[in-house]
Amino acid sequence: MRLTCFLCGLAYPADRLINTCTCGRPLRVDYDLSASTLRPDDLRGREATLWRYREVLPDCAPVSLGEGMTPLHPAPQLGATWWIKDEGVNPTASFKARGMTVAVSMAKHLGATKLAVPSAGNAGGALAAYAAKAGLEAYVFMPRDTPRACIVECENHGAHVTLIDGLITDCAAEIGRRKEAEGWFDLSTLKEPYRVEGKKTMGYELFEQMGGLPDAIVYPTGGGTGLVGMAKAFDEMQRMGWIGAARPRMISVQAEGCAPIATAFHAGERFATEFANAQTVASGLRVPRAIGDFIMLDLIRATGGTALTISDAEMVAAAKEMSRTTGVLASPEGGATLAAARRLLATGFLSPDETVVLFNTGSGVKYLEALG
Ligand SMILES: *Cc1c(COP(=O)(O)O)cnc(C)c1O
Ligand SMILES: [Zn+2]
Repeated sequence: MRLTCFLCGLAYPADRLINTCTCGRPLRVDYDLSASTLRPDDLRGREATLWRYREVLPDCAPVSLGEGMTPLHPAPQLGATWWIKDEGVNPTASFKARGMTVAVSMAKHLGATKLAVPSAGNAGGALAAYAAKAGLEAYVFMPRDTPRACIVECENHGAHVTLIDGLITDCAAEIGRRKEAEGWFDLSTLKEPYRVEGKKTMGYELFEQMGGLPDAIVYPTGGGTGLVGMAKAFDEMQRMGWIGAARPRMISVQAEGCAPIATAFHAGERFATEFANAQTVASGLRVPRAIGDFIMLDLIRATGGTALTISDAEMVAAAKEMSRTTGVLASPEGGATLAAARRLLATGFLSPDETVVLFNTGSGVKYLEALG
């Protein structure tokens, strides 16, 4: 296992704590993969957590709360060949648990004792829970207007919570200023290599649960670990001989009030500019600047996908519809995928016979202010 910069290709050893490349961009975890590394048949009978994919995860003692292997529900109420991957039933009620189980396990393995993260919502709670399980200290910086359930969650897991008058980027800057003096290891999205490794298991699960991959994946995009992780999983699966070169079309959904990736996509840019005055009730999407922007924009284009924006009113209405008609308690982010898929069906980008997976990335239970 070694680390390689996603942008400039510089290589690093994986035997120590590290954040980004010297160029400032994210590091990718590379494994030596072959047809004998892991076969789908090998997975039979393994534990129902994402650690079942251990051959394609870093080698360390798992700090686990039972994350992953979330249900994939057929959703004919919404579309004949549509499915909902319900990430809201993960520990900590969002898919942030996937990233944090692997990142916290590796940070502990490599000797970190104090972990810090900026969070617009669910990342803080996930870090707090896994740090509690690991016996490590967690420092969480959140915008003051973060959904209250997320703040209470962090506090109850014993994290040191600091509320900031600003956005997640201001929280990240505060950690950046203080981390050296305080001895914090920074677990910001894509600023360490292992949250992506946890998130990529969503791609492996889709393959296992569907016996193949869907035609399209509709994904609410913030920092980008989910899109980047799933695309990485598909590349790994191809190298192990599970799939060929074909890929699901990757569709990025953002909020009208915070859409740096969708804006750059339509402008034909490879790098996104910071989105001014970011505002949306979908706190997971309130990420005005992402250091993995080019990875997302490359993979959306390479797969023939697209990017689009949904208003807060539309996503809340769609979240309520998803909740009412399917029994999945949707977050605004999950609702945004339904609204997006509908629009793409109307424009003909998606056809009615295509298999489409909508990601409900978190549970509605965290969003009392927006959904109540
Ligand atoms: C963090 C978050 C997102 C965005 O996730 P990325 O994979 O980092 O783009 C989407 N939905 C919810 C509920 C989140 O908490
Ligand atoms: Zn680099």
